[in-house]
Amino acid sequence: MPLPKLFIPGPVDISDATFAAMCQPMIGHRGGDFEALYASIQPGIQQILGTAGPVYFSTSSAWGVMEGAIRNLVQTKVLNLCCGAFSDKWYGVAQSCGKQAEKIQVEWGEAIDPAAVRAKLEEGGFDTVTLVHNETSTGVMNPLREIAEVVKSFPGVLLVVDTVSSLSAVPTPTDELKIDVLLAGVQKALALPPGLTVFTVSEAALARAATTEGRGYYFDFLEFAKNGEKNNTPSTPAISLLYALKQKVNEIMAEGLAARYERHERLNDLVHAWADKHGITNFAPEGFRSKSLSCFNTPGNLDLSGFIKAVRQKHNMLINGGYGQIKGTTFRISNMGNEDEASINALLAALDDVLPDFIK
Ligand SMILES: *Cc1c(COP(=O)(O)O)cnc(C)c1O
Repeated sequence: MPLPKLFIPGPVDISDATFAAMCQPMIGHRGGDFEALYASIQPGIQQILGTAGPVYFSTSSAWGVMEGAIRNLVQTKVLNLCCGAFSDKWYGVAQSCGKQAEKIQVEWGEAIDPAAVRAKLEEGGFDTVTLVHNETSTGVMNPLREIAEVVKSFPGVLLVVDTVSSLSAVPTPTDELKIDVLLAGVQKALALPPGLTVFTVSEAALARAATTEGRGYYFDFLEFAKNGEKNNTPSTPAISLLYALKQKVNEIMAEGLAARYERHERLNDLVHAWADKHGITNFAPEGFRSKSLSCFNTPGNLDLSGFIKAVRQKHNMLINGGYGQIKGTTFRISNMGNEDEASINALLAALDDVLPDFIK
């Protein structure tokens, strides 16, 4: 049996073109060929991240840079905005880095309220805020613009935003919103194999990092900035993944960002219409739903694990049976990356085919 087609919210399937791009000969990373590769990716990846500044490449999954942001930027106290598995964990990571941390915790399935962020920051003492834009575990997309406006109205407070499952699916205008660090691992919305994270660092964030003790080496933002000036990385990068990123960036530029955003919205609507048809409801509230994945409440009369297994066995497609504390009571379907009408319609037909067998 071939491996199943992935509709889980990451990692997602990679295209044949990406696969081929990775199968190129190795080059030394301290030389012109590598620097040309690095430089050739910049214009496109800058557009995708919505910045005129450099985009850095970390050979790590997202957590490397998520932890790195804490180590580089937090001197007094960080405010972690928590609304699901990934955002909740950032609070624990901040503490494990030995930093002072406080959180705003909302119930899973709810979005972060910008007014609550303002009220918390007014208490004073914070120098950094972390936000997960699209909380992949709950299907909630937080109001990025409104939260950024609040945070940026507090001078000296830096904003770090995780866009792992939203980058290139919806706009994430780093410069316009004055986001200090915007980061994304590449295995979700960008549909590349895991192992690489792209990120920005604002001037203010670099200045902060310069006076922060204990930044370490591997994720030191100053090292990335210094090497980036020479189109290079601090340590040996995952060159194959950079070949893949170059292919992906070119593809996204050819598709056009606006068209890509529109495609995600259209495909997400198709998935939602399928759920509506079956009376299946969203876990995330109206107005705060992700465009790159859907998180649904498991109907009380549905044998979810039997359903997911049968979709895999009969149609060789994989959807996800919920994450963390909402495993089983929710399930998730991804439409991020390379999906199109044909692939999503094929999935929905497969779900329709199997569903009646698992309704009690
Ligand atoms: C998957 C995910 C992560 C974790 O990324 P790793 O690649 O496991 O480090 C972080 N944030 C969000 C929003 C995610 O979806």
